[in-house]
Amino acid sequence: MPDLADGIARFQQDVFPAKADLFAHLAGHHRPHTLFIGCSDARVVPELITQGEPGELFVIRTAGNLVPAYTPGANGVTASIEYAVAVLGVSDIVVCGHSACGAMTALAEGHDLSDAPVVAGWLRHADAALARIAGMATGPQKLVALVQQNVYAQLANLATHPSVARALAERTVTLHGWVFDIATGHVEALDTAGTGTALAS
Ligand SMILES: [Zn+2]
Repeated sequence: MPDLADGIARFQQDVFPAKADLFAHLAGHHRPHTLFIGCSDARVVPELITQGEPGELFVIRTAGNLVPAYTPGANGVTASIEYAVAVLGVSDIVVCGHSACGAMTALAEGHDLSDAPVVAGWLRHADAALARIAGMATGPQKLVALVQQNVYAQLANLATHPSVARALAERTVTLHGWVFDIATGHVEALDTAGTGTALAS
């Protein structure tokens, strides 16, 4: 992995020294303000998009930025949500979809996923989003609509997790839906009316 090793060397030589005091503080403190749930897509980098410092974002990245609705029993997504909300006490949760999402494209265009059965099963967590755009003709606008509706659907799933439900009832956490456009760098904040407004674009 020559590229990664080079990157680590540059980090240690050029980046870390300027942030040494921050990392010294972070060595004993972990109080992120935001739980960021995004897609695993390599082009959607939460810390780059938000220009946050280390320690600010608690990040969960899954294929399609999907958040399974709560079910009893342990899994990595549920445990990470609970830890961020109930233990770390984040004040905000962002679910961020994005343009050209492979997961959403597969659903919008009805791709054959028989060679990727686990992916196909995972994408069932977007069934509600898919149902909302069922009447649309296949095309670019269908994908745009599905990406947006998937953010709404995952925010709804998020609210079924007891830690989130409690924080919402106590008004200690605020949910946000974003869509990141890879080609332009724009971030659209979705509102409950579904129209959306650009964030600092
Ligand atoms: Zn994606």
